Amino acid sequence: MKMPAVLSALILMCAMCIASSPAKASQIPDRAQLEKMSARFAPTRIQVDISGLSAGNRQALGKLIEAARILNDIYMRQLWSGDQALYARLQKERTPLGRARLHYFWINKSPWDDLNDFKAFIAGVPERKPLGANFYPEDMTREQFESWVKALPEKDQEQAKSFFTVIRWQSKGKLTWIPYSQHYRPELEHAAALLRQSATLTDNASLRKFLMSRAAAFLSNDYYQSDLDWMDLDSPLDITIGPYETYSDELLGYKAAFEAYVNLRDEKETQKLAAFAPHLQEIENNLPEAPQYRRAQLGALAPIRVVDEILSAGDGAHGVQTAAYNLPNDERVVQQKGSKRVMLKNIQEAKFQTVLVPISKRVLTPAEQKDVSFEMFFTHTVAHELMHGLGPQQIKVQGRDTSPRQELKELYAAIEEAKADVTGLFALQYMMDHSQQMGLGSVLPSDAAAQRQLYTTFLASAFRSIRFGLNEAHGRGTAVQLNYLLDKGGFVVNRDGTFSVDMAKIKEAVRDLDHEFLTLEAEGNYAGARQMLEHYGVIRPEVQRALDRLHDIPVDIEPLFVTADELAPGKK
Ligand code: ZN
Repeated sequence: MKMPAVLSALILMCAMCIASSPAKASQIPDRAQLEKMSARFAPTRIQVDISGLSAGNRQALGKLIEAARILNDIYMRQLWSGDQALYARLQKERTPLGRARLHYFWINKSPWDDLNDFKAFIAGVPERKPLGANFYPEDMTREQFESWVKALPEKDQEQAKSFFTVIRWQSKGKLTWIPYSQHYRPELEHAAALLRQSATLTDNASLRKFLMSRAAAFLSNDYYQSDLDWMDLDSPLDITIGPYETYSDELLGYKAAFEAYVNLRDEKETQKLAAFAPHLQEIENNLPEAPQYRRAQLGALAPIRVVDEILSAGDGAHGVQTAAYNLPNDERVVQQKGSKRVMLKNIQEAKFQTVLVPISKRVLTPAEQKDVSFEMFFTHTVAHELMHGLGPQQIKVQGRDTSPRQELKELYAAIEEAKADVTGLFALQYMMDHSQQMGLGSVLPSDAAAQRQLYTTFLASAFRSIRFGLNEAHGRGTAVQLNYLLDKGGFVVNRDGTFSVDMAKIKEAVRDLDHEFLTLEAEGNYAGARQMLEHYGVIRPEVQRALDRLHDIPVDIEPLFVTADELAPGKK
């Protein structure tokens, strides 16, 4: 799954909207409006130094880029039956309006606006992206699908609901499924051939194994073995390619869209992760919670890979760019091998420079702006991920064995995300305080400046998260943290409306807040969690005034894949 980037796209639509009516001309943006819409995504060169790759891997990389680009084509077919034809037509337009249309189409990979609930921005297409995309017949209703499935034998039901089949009318009123391997045969054969060529070029055995099994999966439609091989992938040249996320299927949430990420492993961050790992148990043993809630033995660490993205494609390359992902989604694989988190460091840095730095210039004092640091931002993001594995996991409520997730229900996501943020601050402070004993000097600076950077960067990034709104778990959890830390005096509002960190109070305030979150989870305290979110999960006037000053700051980046284009020229 992806990190929530904008408000959840799962907005329930009335049944009428399923039958698509064409977009009305009056609602279609003109050239100036289209250019403004595109400008919310700041064009950013994605350039990666691949000079450290072996000659074989460099050749292999070229083939992977070619294969990944094919997934743009499949994704467009998956989204809408008319998508590719429209794209071809837009590419021939030479007028300024035509160019503006093409530009925004390519950002969204469709004529529907990702940032505005997939409303059409080009005339003559359905008013909104079809809920079931092109995974199902456009005129099929959810009820028709469900009553058809109910009447099928169990084995066939699996195929109907599979991640990897499309649904079509077989005859009037009767549905059937078609495996992706058959439906997208020409594209998948081409992509599989490129993966196999790449496999013969690389010198990394785990990459070769994955590429061969994924190529086979493209043609057999059985992804299981290749998902296992992807979990074992450990290579300087890193790739994720295949049908994964089901967000594009807003009708039923069954069908996986094709996406690809071609990445280079970040060796420095990989070392940092390895340096943190042996100290996690000690951090757990010192968490600010009652000692009986601490876990004597942490579970195995879920694998985390830090990489720089060279190219993203398909479902991984529209609207707000993916900053990190957790895969696979196949429960059988997750049970057997867990899941792997991939963090796209250069994409996060691009977002940081494009969005967070401009935000910090408006919400912080000039003196504190200097303390906003990408290295610290990213180190905290890594700590956030690690902290999901610390704190209460298996708990007892009135003698019952249960979990924080089961007890906190719909409030769990906001509390858990906030817990990971604050425990991340706590853990980094702890490691800074014990840097010498832990031997972390080379991976984690711990002087006074570094400590200021940690909290100041966190303060600035709080405004970035809240900007996405309180309906989303990260946004709401961030509002809780910001308000609590303001009340405790760790953060302060200045007379001119800017915000500052009070270094004399912030550490204590973070401990107190972490104690609150950890205790809510350890006790499975639903009522307490609700009270906390209602009291603190709000936007207060002083925060609103700061948010009001951020309107013209870009929402995200538009990646320009410079390195990928040099290795294997793309279209557009
Ligand atoms: Zn998280």
